[in-house]
Formats: sequence, C-alpha cells, structure tokens
Amino acid sequence: MLVDSHCHLDFPYLSDQLDDVLARAKDAGIGTLVTICTRVRKFEQVLVIAEAHDHIFCSVGTHPHNADEERDVALDEIVSLSKHPKVVAIGEAGLDYHYDNAPRDDQEKGFRIHIAAARETGLPLVIHTRDADEDTARILSEEMNKGPFSAVLHCFTAGHELARKGVELGLYVSFSGVLTFKKSDELRDIAAGVPMDRVLVETDAPYLSPEPMRGRRNEPANVVHTAAKLAEVKGVSNAEIARVTTNNFYARFSKAPRPEGDVAA
Ligand SMILES: [Zn+2]
Ligand SMILES: [Zn+2]
Repeated sequence: MLVDSHCHLDFPYLSDQLDDVLARAKDAGIGTLVTICTRVRKFEQVLVIAEAHDHIFCSVGTHPHNADEERDVALDEIVSLSKHPKVVAIGEAGLDYHYDNAPRDDQEKGFRIHIAAARETGLPLVIHTRDADEDTARILSEEMNKGPFSAVLHCFTAGHELARKGVELGLYVSFSGVLTFKKSDELRDIAAGVPMDRVLVETDAPYLSPEPMRGRRNEPANVVHTAAKLAEVKGVSNAEIARVTTNNFYARFSKAPRPEGDVAA
C-alpha cells in the first residue's frame, strides 16, 4: 500500500470527478490521502472532503502564493482549526520565489506563523519551497533554534544543500512526479542521498504528472510511478519503497490513524 502525502482534491478536475479519482486510487493500491489546504479562508473545502472519507485527511494553512491575501490569518486561528480530528498537518506554507505571486515579506511572515503553529500543535508543517533555498534554510535554522517543530519539504525540487540541511534539522523529504522527469538527474542524485527513514512520496495532483503520464492531469493513483522511480533510485523493490514510505508517513503524520489490517512491517 502507498500513501499520497500531498494532493489537492478540492481543485477543479479532481473535485469534479472525485468518486472516479478515488476509485482509481484505490485500484492502484493507494491507501491514505492527504488533501492540502492552500487558503485558510477556503479550509472548509478540504475539510468537507476529508470528513466524507475515512481514508482522507487534510491540512490547514496558507500557500505562499496566497500569503498577501491572508495577512490577517493569525497563529491562534490556524491552531484552533487544526484541532479538528481530520487535520493532520499545518500548511502548505513556505517561500516561492519562482512565481513571486505574493511579496516575499508576506511569504516569510506567513511561513514563520505556520512554523509557530507546527511547534505549538506538534503537527508536521508541509513546506512549499521553490527557488528559495537559502532563505528557506536560514528561516528553518533560526526557527528551529527557538524551539523544535516537525516538517516535510514537499515536492522537493531544491538543491543538495537544502536537502542536507533539512535532514540535519530532522525534516522529511517528499518526492513528487518531478523525480521521474528525464531532466531530473540532479534530483535523483539528491533522492539517493536522503536517508531511507526520511523519504515520502506524493503527487501534488492535479499538477506534475509523473512519467509516463506526463502532459495529462495528475491524480493520486499516479503516485505509484513516483514510488517506482524512488525504488529504482534507492536500489530496492517497489514493495520495499511502499513499506518504507508508508511507515515514514505514519511516523510523521502521526495524527492520521493507521488503517486496521495495515500493520507496520
Ligand atoms: Zn506546494
Ligand atoms: Zn501542493
């Protein structure tokens, strides 16, 4: 069984055909799914999906793209929404200097508020970072010195140094379909170096379909292709990578109950 630790089931295309998407995920052997919040003001949209399905959980937070729209979202509000039994993570939050959709100052403030929420609740922070390796590493180090928190570098596409720093700080590193792209040799090299007890897989659906599905909309069933590539990179079987990434998921997203019958091996 595999877990899709990061998808956006409330986004059009997935939400429009959710029953079919979930049926295909089940057929592909995907167990738990985490549908990730990108706007606290739209948290309700991910929550209703999680509430309607035993195997779906959600997060709460503001994507860096929306950081300027949600300047008014305070720590207390995130913490209070996270008390819902279906909320297993904070985020996604972080820095995106590739698109710079929101001013960097707002992104950093939002990032630090979400780190504080992760620290206070004990829930893992789902970190989005793109073309912002140095600032991400700096903020993580500064904040870790204020008090520990747990986190995942989601859809990892950053460089060696941020991967190394993340692992040193106790973070998990989650790989998406980008790992399967032809041009991703450096990323595969990074993945080879991340300790086995820190790796996760995700789709980030509806974005970033892995090979051989590239060019089509992505959906959770496709996490099998990323997992297979990670197995190849690590030189282990697909069954072993499923075992490892699923164990890692329940270790880090520990508020998500492991389904009965799916025992840690
Ligand atoms: Zn993201
Ligand atoms: Zn995402």
